Amino acid sequence: MDIRENVPLAPLTTFGIGGVARHFAEARTEADILKALEWARAKGVPAIMLSGGSNVLVPDAGLDALVIHVAEGKSALIDDDLVADAGCDLLSLIRSCAESGVGGWEKLAGIPGSIGGAVRGNAGAFGTEIKDVTIKVRALNGETGEVREFKNAECDFSYRHSFFKDNPEWIITKVTVSLRPTDEAASRHLIDETIAERERRHLQNVRAAGSFFMNPVSPPEVIAMFEKEKGVKSRGGRVPAGWLIEKAGMKGAKVGGAIASLQHPNYIVNTGGATAQDVDELAKRIKEQVLTRFGVELTEEAALL
Ligand SMILES: Cc1cc2nc3c(=O)[nH]c(=O)nc-3n(C[C@H](O)[C@H](O)[C@H](O)COP(=O)(O)OP(=O)(O)OC[C@H]3O[C@@H](n4cnc5c(N)ncnc54)[C@H](O)[C@@H]3O)c2cc1C
Repeated sequence: MDIRENVPLAPLTTFGIGGVARHFAEARTEADILKALEWARAKGVPAIMLSGGSNVLVPDAGLDALVIHVAEGKSALIDDDLVADAGCDLLSLIRSCAESGVGGWEKLAGIPGSIGGAVRGNAGAFGTEIKDVTIKVRALNGETGEVREFKNAECDFSYRHSFFKDNPEWIITKVTVSLRPTDEAASRHLIDETIAERERRHLQNVRAAGSFFMNPVSPPEVIAMFEKEKGVKSRGGRVPAGWLIEKAGMKGAKVGGAIASLQHPNYIVNTGGATAQDVDELAKRIKEQVLTRFGVELTEEAALL
């Protein structure tokens, strides 16, 4: 196993922020991940998983750990089921399935990152979540070495949540999704439309980690205010964090090189040279203002490594 030392992590994240990994290994398969974990155990250093890097904030001081970079692996279509290594890029999988005439998950197109990262956070967009197509998740327990297959119902999926988020010792190594036969051209069109719609709503090519906070469950009076102003129904008693941030006067708020995006206030954007400390401080101020104004506590969606 090739273990590198002092590897810069910022270029491996969409934020482009953070220090170096004291130790670093690249893993594509379950066997690679297992070997890397064994190395960490033998050396007595913690292991931290990183895949597409699109939902993480790496500290400025870096990570005194073995960072296991779960990189692009292999995938195979078996009838209408796709079996993919955790590090496979989600958009590439959606596109290649469309070319093979299977789909049903096109609305997830454009969510950056890997299929493993998507399952861990139950990534979703436009009313579709990865849980809707996931039938099986294979995972490895980093503490015991046990390998298990989790059926969908065992993954405890809910809004931006899964069993794996609560139990980080379980590392996702493979995901099986169940798709359906689709017309290739229609599927490709839906993928392109979805990506274009994402661009229309907010810029995608920014140094950020996507939505920094989850949409919180909110008190009835806040929901009523949101529904009256926006003319749309709240989903599951939640109100968009971006709306709360704007109403709390924090849209465009800045700390150092970090800004609460003017286009999508729930995106904290690195305008160039932002540090993790800038992002942390801005996030803290946003949380305070939203709490003061609405009595609602925001929770980070992005993982603070
Ligand atoms: C511009 C932009 C737009 C976005 N839009 C959306 C959106 O519409 N919907 C949405 O849901 N998200 C969105 N996101 C967030 C992000 O793309 C998703 O959360 C994505 O699924 C993260 O996958 P990743 O591979 O990049 O994970 P990473 O960022 O690498 O990791 C995220 C967390 O998962 C852990 N992890 C990574 N791989 C594994 C593994 N194999 N097993 C266990 N744990 C693992 C990491 O340790 C970390 O805690 C957006 C992000 C950006 C930058």
